[in-house]
Formats: sequence, structure tokens, C-alpha cells
Amino acid sequence: MSAIKYPKNRWAWVEIDLNAIRKNTRAFKSLLARGTKMMCAVKADAYGHGAVECAKAMASAGADQFAVATVDEGVELREGGVTQPILMLNESPVESVATLLEHDIMPSIYTTDFAFAYGEQAVAMGKVGKYHLAIDTGMTRIGVLPEEAIEFRHSIDFHRGLECAGTFTHFATADVIGDWDFKQQARRFEDTIVALRQAGFECGLAHCDNTPGTVLHPEFHYDMCRLGIGLYGLQPADTTAPRISLAPAMSVRARVTRVVNPAVGEGVGYGLTYRVPKPNIQIATVPIGYADGLARVLSNNMDVIVNGARARQVGRICMDQFMFAVDVNSVRAYRPAGRVERGDVVTLIGRDGEEEITADEMAARRDTINYEVVCNFSQRLDRVFV
Ligand SMILES: *Cc1c(COP(=O)(O)O)cnc(C)c1O
Repeated sequence: MSAIKYPKNRWAWVEIDLNAIRKNTRAFKSLLARGTKMMCAVKADAYGHGAVECAKAMASAGADQFAVATVDEGVELREGGVTQPILMLNESPVESVATLLEHDIMPSIYTTDFAFAYGEQAVAMGKVGKYHLAIDTGMTRIGVLPEEAIEFRHSIDFHRGLECAGTFTHFATADVIGDWDFKQQARRFEDTIVALRQAGFECGLAHCDNTPGTVLHPEFHYDMCRLGIGLYGLQPADTTAPRISLAPAMSVRARVTRVVNPAVGEGVGYGLTYRVPKPNIQIATVPIGYADGLARVLSNNMDVIVNGARARQVGRICMDQFMFAVDVNSVRAYRPAGRVERGDVVTLIGRDGEEEITADEMAARRDTINYEVVCNFSQRLDRVFV
């Protein structure tokens, strides 16, 4: 591997390729008609990729707005110097409305309680509180029901502290081609927007498509698309893969801290769930564990890449470390030394030479989705931007 960058204090890190982020952002931007805005979801620390750095890379590649899930995520973007509009994709406790207004973070609104608290605070601060109205068209998560939308707007619109800057819904099955439920959600959204506008309400930007929706259902781009997973180079589903080519931005790497050659029969890790089966097996230790987001369920069920070749993880994954085995009997695969050594770079996700381990591979082994795999690597590992 060429020119490895890693943090000073730890032999384990997440590497983020900001060029890949920019490239993916441009690829999505090119799917949108001129004038259609692009909102980039950088919630959950940009799906584990680093919110402020990713938002800036996306902004330089055409992002118009950003979406977060919590007040603190919005504040972090503002403190990091992000100036574009920020939408929080749900409501927060009413106690937080002053913080939202202070940092110019728009909430999604769907209860009168929250709307009034936000509007009152806006007036008290001499501001107008912009918000987006959430419509629940069938996912049964957040939003006002389509048949309640007009009544809801009537009940809050008198308030001079409120201004509707957008109206949106979220699809439950945007990744399924020709899905009846998707069409029903889309129809309910369209009907609600039309009804609100006919009743004289300003809807602001209408938006509904997430990553799979943007790729598979361009007829529902409306005024803005909300992109997430695709910006990070991951496919939301098999259905989108043939339609857009993306570059994964995250690699997870570490360096070997210790190597031993145990005798046949010696065990590895808690519970000794792996025993050395034959002579000339090297056991190497890596300083990443389940506290870093490497799910323990992957124990004895994942590979790593060392010196361009795959090796099997063995024994239970610990809180801060795990072990892997290298069969020195079949070292022809290993370059350049044929053996693993202390300090060698280990790739858990990403590419090393000809080999690659994807977030999708790890997700399949964990019985989850790539979204969860990358989010999980956010907590304790330094991110290195390349
Ligand atoms: C997270 C999120 C998105 C982005 O979804 P992807 O599948 O990652 O594209 C869009 N809209 C809402 C409401 C979300 O919560």
C-alpha cells in the first residue's frame, strides 16, 4: 500500500476519500434537471464519514442544502462553517427551539405543540422560523396525514413567527421497481401538494425522493432530491446498482500490534472458540473491537486483507481488539514477505492491492444493511481524510 496516513495515537482508523464524495455528489447532481435542488443527508456524522468535512466536499460539488437528524448535528455543521440551509428531518424537544433558531436550523414540523413553541420563540427573537411540513403518506413514521394537512396548516398559519419553506414525504419502498405501495405514497403526496396549493397555502420546496427514489423515480424529483447513502458510494439496493456507478468513500484500517506462532491446539480469544489446527499458523492481533463498531457477531465470520491477500478473523472479537490467522503453509498468496509482521496494515473495509472488502460484504455477514455498517464505525476511531 502506498503512503499510508494514520493518526498519531492509535493504530486503527477510518479513512475517508473526499474525492469519492465529490465524485458521487456530481454523479447525482447530473441526474437532476437544472433548477432541481440537491439536499445531502449528513446525519449520523455523515453516515460515519465525518459531517463537516463531507458537507464541505459536497457543497463544492453542487450540494444546495443539508439534512440532519438532531439539533446537535445541525449545530456541529454551523460551528464547522457550513452556511447552506439545514433541515432537521424531524421535530426535537420544544426546549430546543431557541437553539434551532439561533443556528438557523429548520425543523420538520408535524405537531401543533412544536409549531407553536417554535413560532413563539421566533417572534421573541425577532425572527421568522422557517420549517418544512412533513406528510405521512404511508410509512407511518412522522408527518401529518394527507387528509389532515390543510386543517393543520389552517391551525398554524396565522402565526407570524412561522414560514413554510418546504413540504415533503418519505418513501418506504423507493428501491422496489413498480411497487404498488410506492405509487400510492407518490399519489398521496402529489394530491396533498395540489390540495394545499389550491387552498392558497405556500408549500415551499416540494421533495420526496431519497437515493433509490432519485435513481429509479426521476418523475418524482419535484423541487429537490434528498440524497444520502449514494453520496458515500454505497448502493441502497440491488435495483439501483445497474443505474449509477459510485465510488465507496470509507475504508477501515489498522496495523498489526503483535504476531505469534502458537503450538497446535492452543486457543484464541475469549472462550477459546478457535484452536490452532496445524503447525505454522500465525496469529496476529489488531487493535479494533466491538467498541469501535466492529460487530461481535462477525466473530469467526469475517476476512481482513493483509499485504494484498485475505486472511480469516479467528476467535471472538473483543471490545478493543481482534485476532486473525495466517496460514504460513500456503503463503504463496502473501506478498512481499510471505508472513505477517507487527506494523503491517490490515484492511477491514476497503481495497488493498487486488483485494477488496466492501461494506456490503460485511453487511451480508452481519445480516444487516451497508448503512448500519458504516454508521457503526463512527464513534471511537479517528477519521483520516485523503
Ligand atoms: C436518511 C434520509 C434520507 C436519505 O436516505 P438515503 O436512503 O440514504 O438516500 C432522505 N430522507 C429522509 C427523511 C431521511 O431520513
